[in-house]
Amino acid sequence: MRPSPLAALFATVRSLKGVGPKVEGLLNKLLAPRQPSAHARVIDLLWHLPVGLIDRAITPRIVDARIGDIATLEVTVTEHRPGGGRRRGARGPYRVLVEDSSAALELVYFNADPVYLKRLLPEGSKRLISGKLESYDGWLQMPHPDHVTAIDGAGTLPTLEPIYPLTAGLNNTVLRRAIAEALARLPSLPEWIDEGFRAQNAWPSFAEALSRLHAPEAETDLLPSAPARGRVAYDELLANQLALAVIRQRLKKRAGRRLAARGKLRREILAKLPFALTGAQTRALAEIDADLASPHRMLRLLQGDVGSGKTVVALLAMATAVEAGAQATLMAPTELLARQHLKTISEFGAAADLRIALLTGRERGSERSGLVGALKEGHIDILIGTHAIFQEGIAFRDLGLVVIDEQHRFGVHQRLALQAKGSGSGAELLVTTATPIPRTLLLTSYGDMDASRLDEKPPGRKPIVTRTVPLDRIEEVIAGIERAVAGGAQAYWVCPLVAESEVLDFAAAEARYAELRARFGDKVGLVHGRLAGKDKDRVMVAFASGALSILVSTTVIEVGVDVPRASIMIIEHAERFGLAQLHQLRGRVGRGTAESSCILLYRAPLSETARERLGVMRRTEDGFLIAEEDLKLRGGGQLLGTRQSGLPLFRIASLPEHEALLQAARDAARLILARDLELKGPEAEPLKLLLYLFERDDAIKLMRAG
Ligand code: ADP
Ligand code: MG
Repeated sequence: MRPSPLAALFATVRSLKGVGPKVEGLLNKLLAPRQPSAHARVIDLLWHLPVGLIDRAITPRIVDARIGDIATLEVTVTEHRPGGGRRRGARGPYRVLVEDSSAALELVYFNADPVYLKRLLPEGSKRLISGKLESYDGWLQMPHPDHVTAIDGAGTLPTLEPIYPLTAGLNNTVLRRAIAEALARLPSLPEWIDEGFRAQNAWPSFAEALSRLHAPEAETDLLPSAPARGRVAYDELLANQLALAVIRQRLKKRAGRRLAARGKLRREILAKLPFALTGAQTRALAEIDADLASPHRMLRLLQGDVGSGKTVVALLAMATAVEAGAQATLMAPTELLARQHLKTISEFGAAADLRIALLTGRERGSERSGLVGALKEGHIDILIGTHAIFQEGIAFRDLGLVVIDEQHRFGVHQRLALQAKGSGSGAELLVTTATPIPRTLLLTSYGDMDASRLDEKPPGRKPIVTRTVPLDRIEEVIAGIERAVAGGAQAYWVCPLVAESEVLDFAAAEARYAELRARFGDKVGLVHGRLAGKDKDRVMVAFASGALSILVSTTVIEVGVDVPRASIMIIEHAERFGLAQLHQLRGRVGRGTAESSCILLYRAPLSETARERLGVMRRTEDGFLIAEEDLKLRGGGQLLGTRQSGLPLFRIASLPEHEALLQAARDAARLILARDLELKGPEAEPLKLLLYLFERDDAIKLMRAG
């Protein structure tokens, strides 16, 4: 139950005065774009901050106004010229002629309602108008003024107008009105920040801070360093750190177990492995072993670039758990990946006679019930699967180790929460991630989790040659593939992320597929998110077996597919992908012994950051370096890359700009929990409000379940 002071903030925007169905639709589109059906709420409006500021101070005369700037002018309406205008018979926009003592000016309206315009701008009346001044055919024009008011209505025209990101059909004025209504709903909330710390930073209260964020008075008020922004960013980071700290504490509190083994199974597996472990793999395993053998619960992140060999490490850790008499499970983010893990782990694990099974959403009926029974009886040592593993009715005889193959797809704290309540409670936890996460972000996504890094690639990998090629030279690229394929090479062709929409991504991939198929015939396959699991597998198997030479896909292959023979990666519209994603995709090749290449096809002209991104890709393959560059390039405001990389998305806080605040929030969260382990005392009430406000209330549920 959300505390009642916040109820008004979590109502849909429709509850605001002046927001009818039309505006509601637009606000849904603007504020909740990730789920088409989702409703924007009042709080979403409050988090929607201005990105600019317009000065609407009145310009004395028309001749003093500068073309291209926003001008606010006092004028007299002289004439209406409904569509047509100067040249007889020509159809055109509706124009309204206005003037002052210095010059004349045309207000230009496309598709306007004449009745409305006659009422807004009666001939002979004086009006205050504001908008962008342009020049066309030697005429001064103001197309679609932002504001038109009677002179005595000057008070309603803001002198400094905050400018918000908009969506087609929604104008700044309508949005500002809705935000003003939302601000009026903001209750005064008890302070959750330590008073000393707040005073030291000269921060306003939460409500004041939000009001100020929506009423900037200077450009500097829009920067991450503005006090109001700092305050709310800190709130958000504190909520994040507190939630993670609660989860970690829950997990740590449960007694772990000693999973110690003599290493028999592990030796059997190692003896049959076709390679020796890298130094990094050996180090990571030693760290994991120490955790497993200690009575404390393991809570460890295994970080390693694509291809760094995390699967084998996970298998060897699971072998230890099994030898110690427990069961282990490996959870993958997709069915495809779960199957792939099954294959690898069965192969490598064969030497140790491990009993391995697969559980995804697809197993049904007797197959499933047989599996469920075997699991409960302890006839299965290692269960590999998707989140289906944590469904109702799935019980282990004795689950000792949970490995979550994160692949940067899940909201981590949700996963951890699931672990804490689900059938994995009491089990040791290892999370693997292929996203090389910069240290700052590590803290925001995993809290104080212990981490092992696989920062060394298996030997013998050849560097991947990365080239950037403009789309209009696609023919050369295809010709190159033709030669390579004739020589037995295999290629991935990843199609653009058109929108965050499966349907559109699908259409783009389908079109490219048709084109390549016309050229290469049945050597081309297509996978995308809309294919049924079985069909997807069929295509993947065909590609892995070499029956297909070219695999066209949307970004579904991003996640961990392993086809060592594939040596060419084409990424179409590479400029639309984030660095983390480009890096992940490129990591699909360069896994075998062949020379590999990656071609980043882009549409010119490139934006400054897109150029930088592609440059970074050309310069380096080091995932940790790329991650740091990514963070720098993205800067605070740009969330797109963040969203794509699956890292937690902050609405207000931006990293690295607020890094110092993040550290402070972590320390504060620790202190709070050290003082009041259950957040039960009266002093914790404001903190609970904070968690609800930023929707980290799964932490609160967890404490209750506790
Ligand atoms: P990740 O999951 O980290 O992306 P994988 O575990 O899939 O990487 O390993 C990538 C490939 O490298 C696999 O084919 C695996 O068999 C191989 N591999 C793993 N460790 C080594 C090693 N020490 N030496 C050589 N090859 C290795
Ligand atoms: Mg892997």
